[in-house]
Formats: sequence, structure tokens, C-alpha cells
Amino acid sequence: SEERNLNFIEEIVEADLKSGKHASIMTRFPPEPNGYLHIGHAKSICLNFGLAKKYGGKTNLRFDDTNPVTEETEYVESIKDDVRWLGFEWANERYASDYFEQLFEFAILLITKGLAYVDDSSSDEIASQKGTPTHPGVENQYRNRSTEENLKLFNEMRDGKYKDGEKVLRAKIDMASPNMHMRDPILYRIKHAHHHRTGDKWCIYPMYDFAHGQSDSIENITHSICTLEFIPHRPLYDWLIEQLGIFPSHQYEFARLNMTYTVMSKRKLLQLVNEEYVSGWDDPRMSTISGMRRRGYTADAIRDFCERIGVAKRDNLIDVGLLEFFVREHLNKIALRRMVVFDPLKVVITNYTQEHELLPSENNPEDPEAGHRDIHFGKDIYIEREDFMEVPPKKYFRLAPGQMVRLKNAYIIQCNEVIKDAAGNITELHCTYIPESKSGADTSGMHVKGTLHWVSVAHAIKAEVRLYDRLFKVEDVGNAEGDFKDHINANSLHVVQNALAEPALQNDPPDARYQFLRKGYYILDRDSTKDKLVFNRTVTLKDTWAK
Ligand code: ATP
Ligand code: MG
Ligand code: MG
Repeated sequence: SEERNLNFIEEIVEADLKSGKHASIMTRFPPEPNGYLHIGHAKSICLNFGLAKKYGGKTNLRFDDTNPVTEETEYVESIKDDVRWLGFEWANERYASDYFEQLFEFAILLITKGLAYVDDSSSDEIASQKGTPTHPGVENQYRNRSTEENLKLFNEMRDGKYKDGEKVLRAKIDMASPNMHMRDPILYRIKHAHHHRTGDKWCIYPMYDFAHGQSDSIENITHSICTLEFIPHRPLYDWLIEQLGIFPSHQYEFARLNMTYTVMSKRKLLQLVNEEYVSGWDDPRMSTISGMRRRGYTADAIRDFCERIGVAKRDNLIDVGLLEFFVREHLNKIALRRMVVFDPLKVVITNYTQEHELLPSENNPEDPEAGHRDIHFGKDIYIEREDFMEVPPKKYFRLAPGQMVRLKNAYIIQCNEVIKDAAGNITELHCTYIPESKSGADTSGMHVKGTLHWVSVAHAIKAEVRLYDRLFKVEDVGNAEGDFKDHINANSLHVVQNALAEPALQNDPPDARYQFLRKGYYILDRDSTKDKLVFNRTVTLKDTWAK
């Protein structure tokens, strides 16, 4: 990757290492296992793992699983797959739920220090007592409960004596603080719910603010990186660590990634899945890492993209075209070149007298290591119907009556006759080839401007090709009027059912990346069967990102 200036987090890390504040750094990636990871998470993964890699530190993968209702083991597994696929390995796999006992002890310590109390108010009462940013909140009658009473009640909460919502544990900080998060924030709530790891052991669960910083501290995280909306949470993060006297992790905030034509909230992605706008979390149109992987994006391209967009301190909207640019750039280097005809038109080469021949053809002109495959050439071939015009305009360099084109990796042909059915539809073309014009050994001295892709009739295999367009019609989906689903592009998937492909496609490794000549970049889909291969278009050939 290219040279660049340090981003602001790297500056902080370098200063901390230089001053001796930390001998080495420890970061974490803390997903909540309530959905699949998306490209925004990739940004956070690259940042956290990238920092540790660059400065010789370590990164934990920590599942922030404090909300039993929305979390599932399926999500845990998909998250691990995605992080590995992106090319990162964690030092430790941790779960906030591993710390439930420790967190409970922390809460007891706060109560003992007179810094937390059990509140019997309903959530509505708590909300109405909170005040506004310009008016202080109300200190209610529960705030001055004795330590003994608080200890007794909190233990009873744990023991299941109360129903959901009957009591909460709150930090006792300052109901007049200008920072609303410091107005006696809730630390624990009662939830009689089955947890994906702790089962029915607990019926009280810590709130994000109580679990997150404490988990960071338990793991000796030096730099806890999160997105900007957590800036107002930082005083509470610091307060809890200070009052508990535990390892001083620090929180740093950067701007979350937003991308054009894309939604990136798990809640919204879940809606797309549940309401069947897409086929699942890994539908190739989804902004999920698994969707992008299925679509054929490479981990290299995603990492390069994350590196290039850098770390911002203010929210912005990144052009999805920039991501596609990196995908194209990488695929151009690694994709095997293949020929697939989407809408076949038969061509008979009337002066071709051999049975057939094999034409050695480069797999990838960008990569000499990629080798060659042999392409079958014969009397009957298919070209793309749209590559022929009976009455062409001027400067039409494809096939037309009397006109010549080169068949890629093969010969120059000339069209002599157009065959039609009774209804006037063109059914085949009769052409002649120039035997001296063989690619790589051309002595014909002829020059033609157009080159067409083609496949041999006798050897072609069936393929289905899925062409994807953007899932949303508007650039800034997050800020567009109305419901985000109002902006879904109804034509985001176009399926070509009866494409015909060169047989080499049958023998490539399943994760091979392809450039179908003149058609774009493709990858095999897992829906393929023995009788029909299915391909996803990863990205078009043209670089439309012109900035
Ligand atoms: P969502 O809003 O999509 O549900 P989240 O922040 O609730 O995302 P988490 O599982 O809590 O999802 O996120 C794990 C980590 O990924 C957090 O540190 C979070 O800040 C980071 N992250 C999530 N979305 C983005 C984004 N769009 N850009 C950068 N980082 C992100
Ligand atoms: Mg979160
Ligand atoms: Mg969320």
C-alpha cells in the first residue's frame, strides 16, 4: 500500500509508545452478535487489527453479548468467519458474558462505595425525572437508600425475585450534570431471558455502558476505538474505570463509515432479510461482508478501500464507486479471462474444414504465472447477438454483412450471409475465416478494429448469470425522505438464464475470480449445479469512478 501520513489514532498510539505510557498496545473489535457484519464493521476491523499489526500489539475479538434477546450463536459464527476472511487473526476470543460475575462484583463495589443504588421507578418515571440538557433532573426517593438496602435488593434482583422492569441499578453520579449520560445512568436491568451462552443463569444484564468499558479494562485494552456517537459516553466510561480503580483503558472516537446507495445498520439489514427484499444476509447485493464475499469482492480490495478512506473525525458519505474501484483494480490483476456468450447467435464458418482445433489462450495477460488454457475452435460457434447488425451505422466495428471482425484468441472472420426464419428473425450467420489470421501467428496482414468473444457450439456449457445493480435508488439512503425501503431499486437483479460458456469454467477452483471478456468480473455462485453453473457479476468492467 502507498505511503501516507499517520492518521490521528496512529499519532496517539505512537505518542503513547514513545512516552512509555504503554509498552505495547492492545485493541479489540467488539461486535454485538445480533446480525452479520457489514462494510462499516470492516472499517472498524481493519482499523483495530491494522493498528495492532502495525505497532506489534494484539487485538481481541470480543462479543458484546449483553442483550440476550437479540443475540444468537449463528451470528457469532458468521462474525468469526468474516473477520478471518478479511485476513485477521485475533489474540483472544472473548465474550462480555464471560465477565458477568466480575461485572456483578464491580456493581457490588460501587454500591459499597455509595456510588450505585437500586431504583424502583418505572422506565417512564426515570425518563421523566431525567430533565433536559438545560434543566437538571430530579433526585428521587430511592437515591438515598442505604448501602445495606441496596446490597440486599441488588442480590434479590440477581436471584430472580423481581419481574422485568420492576427495578434497575443506577450509578449515583449527578442528576444536574450537563451530560445526560452522567445523570445516574442505568447499570443493570432485569431481563428474564435465555442467553445464548449463559443460558438461564442470569436474569439481570449489564447495560452497554457498564459492560463495555469494564470489559476493555479487564482485557487491558489500551486504545478502545469506537464511533463518534460515543463521545458523550466517554465521561461515564472514565468515571466508572476511575471509581472501580481498574486498568485505565481509553476510548477514542472516529467517524463511522457511510456509503452512497447503501444501508449499513443491522436493524435495517435484518428488515431486508426478514421481509424478503433480498435472499438472505449474504445476498450479493447486501452491504454485508458475507454478501460482498459471495458477490466476488476480495478481502484485499476491502482492506485497500478501508486504508484509502482513512480515519475521519467528522461524519461523511463515501462514494460506493470508490470501493468498486478497488475491487476492479484487484480483480484485474487476479481474474482468469474467460469467454461467455449471454445471448447466443450461431455462426457457421463455411470454409472451415477441420474437425476442430485447440487454441492456447492466456489465462490472464496481467499475470504471466496464470498460465494458459486451450480453447476449442470449430466450424460452429456462438457470438453475442448484440454483436451483429444487419444494417450497421457508420463506424460500427462489430459484425455486419460483408464486414470483418477478429474472434478473440482465434481468427478473423467475414460475414457473407444472414439466415432467417419464416418470421424474419435471424437464426444464424454464414461466415468465412482467414486461415492466415490465427492469433499469435497472424501473417494475413489484415487489420480489423473489432474483437468479439465467442464459444464453440460443440463444447459450450450452460450457465446462468446474475447481474446486480445497486439495491437503492438514492445516494444518501440514510437521509432520504420516508422509509428507507421506499428507495429500494426494484431492478437490482437481472438474471440471464441461457448463457453459454467455454468449458474451462467447469474445472477452475470454486473461488476463482473471472473476467468474462467484454462483460465484467464474475465469480461462481454456490447455487451452481452439475447441469448449470451460476455466476454472480462482481462488478462491471468500466471504471465509472472518475475523481
Ligand atoms: P449497527 O448500527 O450496524 O447495528 P453497531 O455499532 O450497533 O452497528 P456493533 O456490533 O456494536 O454494531 O459494532 C461493532 C463495532 O463496529 C463497534 O466498535 C462499532 O463502532 C463498529 N462499527 C459499526 N458500524 C460501523 C460503521 N458504519 N463504520 C465504522 N465502524 C462501525
Ligand atoms: Mg453497538
Ligand atoms: Mg446496533
